[in-house]
Amino acid sequence: MLPPRQQPRPGGLQTSLSLVVSPDACGSPNPQERGSTSDQARDSPSESASSRETWPTSEALMAKKLEKEKENGYAEHSVVRNMSNSDKISLRDIARERVDVIADRMRNLPDEYLEKFKYELRVILEGSGGAQHRNEFQFLQRLVNSRGELTDGILCLTHRTQLEILVAIKTGIQAFLHPSVSLSQASLIDIFLYKRCRNIACGSVLPAEECSCEICSKKNGFCNLCMCAICNKFDFEVNTCRWIGCDLCSHWTHTDCAISNGQIGTGPSVKVGASSAETLFRCHACSRTSELLGWVKDVFQHCAPSWDAEAFVRELDFVRRIFQRSEDARGRKLYWKCEELVEKLKGGVADPMACKVILSFFQGEPDILFLVLTFFYTICDWGVVDK
Ligand SMILES: [Zn+2]
Ligand SMILES: [Zn+2]
Ligand SMILES: [Zn+2]
Ligand SMILES: [Zn+2]
Repeated sequence: MLPPRQQPRPGGLQTSLSLVVSPDACGSPNPQERGSTSDQARDSPSESASSRETWPTSEALMAKKLEKEKENGYAEHSVVRNMSNSDKISLRDIARERVDVIADRMRNLPDEYLEKFKYELRVILEGSGGAQHRNEFQFLQRLVNSRGELTDGILCLTHRTQLEILVAIKTGIQAFLHPSVSLSQASLIDIFLYKRCRNIACGSVLPAEECSCEICSKKNGFCNLCMCAICNKFDFEVNTCRWIGCDLCSHWTHTDCAISNGQIGTGPSVKVGASSAETLFRCHACSRTSELLGWVKDVFQHCAPSWDAEAFVRELDFVRRIFQRSEDARGRKLYWKCEELVEKLKGGVADPMACKVILSFFQGEPDILFLVLTFFYTICDWGVVDK
């Protein structure tokens, strides 16, 4: 059994906001589309399986900064005023023109002008312009993705800003344009060519752990250490039932993706010698099954003490949805227990008793103790007993 995703949240480099995701790198480029495939997904308490790849700077901060730059006109006019038309290049030029030609022209451009490209692309990736920005991003990405000549050798000829822009267009991640991110040219080229994980906080050489499974060997940028085997996206959620780990190949899957993709169901026990049925997760990477009750039990036992009331309700809701269609007795019981506790806790009050009730269930306490705890919990809830 894998431990829950307990790796510490990356400090400085947390996330990289991308409204637009790379269609070729992601199974489902449209988060709304993915949500609508499952009626359970609508219950998702957070951003759900959309797995926003977010940049650490808070969105508000970034929006403010962009706003300020907008107000200042980003010094564009003063820079552009002194340039002839033949010197000017656009993001589209960078996306489609020969690397060496653009690199030469960029070398003659003032730094402010180069920053203007990054700013322009960041605004597009920010997506505040709605459909217009989305269309422009998709257009730029199609241009870049259609270029078979962008090999290691050719990308070595790029201007630094040009390479950052090409990588940001290819991945849809604005972190590559951020002033505080300075990856080496070799790393940027590797990310562009899907030889390194595009999650800057991970940065693993791909295929990670030299995995030769079907998904890892597709060479489309998937990283088994940090991405979902179904939607190919990453996020930084840890200590949560939001992710399910495969007991056998250790690849990760968003719970929401597993549910909407029909990877969770009831089947014969995977334990040797056991004849009963249990709720199972079928891994998209290795097609083998892991049992889920032990999984959520481990997550709760390791992580529940650190959850606040909101997190506790969210986690119970994940468990509720995981076991929603369970046909085995223990799975059904867990589903009903979660359903009941979620209802009770919706007021948002942290209740250690609720945690005890669920942990005693996982510990397989004798039913009588479980019933006593549940009864005590219920009368507390009615206010019969002072908390
Ligand atoms: Zn793999
Ligand atoms: Zn990774
Ligand atoms: Zn996913
Ligand atoms: Zn697996």
